[in-house]
Amino acid sequence: MVRHGFAVHPLAPGAKTPPPNCEACTAGAHQPQYCPCHAEHGWCHGFHAATTDLNTVQHWWSTQPGFGIGIACGPSRLVVIDVDAHTDRPPHRSRLLPGISIHDSVDLAGLSSGFDTLALLAAYRRRPNPCDDTSTLRVQTPSGGMHIWYRMPRHTPAFKSSSGSSKRTALAWQVDIRAANGYIVAPGTRTTAGVYQALPGTRIPAPLPLWLVAELTRTGHRTDAPAPSKPLAPISSRPGNAPRVLAALLKEVEDCGAVPEGAAFSEKLNRAAFTAGGLVQSGHLHGVETRQILIETATRARPHQPRRNAHIVETGMRAGSTRPIRPEERT
Ligand SMILES: [Zn+2]
Ligand SMILES: [Zn+2]
Repeated sequence: MVRHGFAVHPLAPGAKTPPPNCEACTAGAHQPQYCPCHAEHGWCHGFHAATTDLNTVQHWWSTQPGFGIGIACGPSRLVVIDVDAHTDRPPHRSRLLPGISIHDSVDLAGLSSGFDTLALLAAYRRRPNPCDDTSTLRVQTPSGGMHIWYRMPRHTPAFKSSSGSSKRTALAWQVDIRAANGYIVAPGTRTTAGVYQALPGTRIPAPLPLWLVAELTRTGHRTDAPAPSKPLAPISSRPGNAPRVLAALLKEVEDCGAVPEGAAFSEKLNRAAFTAGGLVQSGHLHGVETRQILIETATRARPHQPRRNAHIVETGMRAGSTRPIRPEERT
């Protein structure tokens, strides 16, 4: 899978869900993208840990050969149509294909699954049914559903995941979309329910057909990249000059951005994080926000090494927290 450039992550042995986080991350307040475990071969936060790095992948599967394989769709530029075959009672016809009204004259007797609604959508658009698309990778799921894998065409903005039962964003009843913020079980993975088995046809995802690009766009799946967040002002939980103490150190980190390498960046970031940890510990700064400011400042100066930045911030703050700082006592 990594061979194809897909970003993989472990699934708990026998399950279609990722293994649990470490204790610190279960209790922790950081956002998954800033997880310090990822720099140390940790698999915390499910698909957020996904990587194409062979060393990490080898480490994971030698630690636990029983892991299944998950693929993070976003970094792998995949869109997977997840067709369910649950035997639920269909909802009112107005909710089978969101945004498309199905005339009363259309006989819907026997419609019972995502296979039916997807076929209905394809027929309505006079396009071939994706479930029959042997030009792309299709995978049969243990519960009788089907995953139809597609690659995002070049220059197409990302799509987000959705559930077919969602009232907000959905393509069709019992058809889920696995995209930017989701993952998919790789073929060959075995769970207690059975094996995810590639179906006859090619094993390589084809580009997402343009009519499906249009359908996903129509149904609100576009996720245009969020605007970069503005740096938060340090928040002081008590009056004092803690924000000013930290600001001077952050400026040094920020200034490293003027040159792409060197400038003692790691040392400066570590010093800022260490001081921040001390100020948080003494109650002069808010921990979560301070961590975010450090990460954002580091990212602006060294955008190509997010995991390394997160690691320095985390270890620096942890070390600093053993030395509480009270800036107003300084002369
Ligand atoms: Zn962790
Ligand atoms: Zn974490």
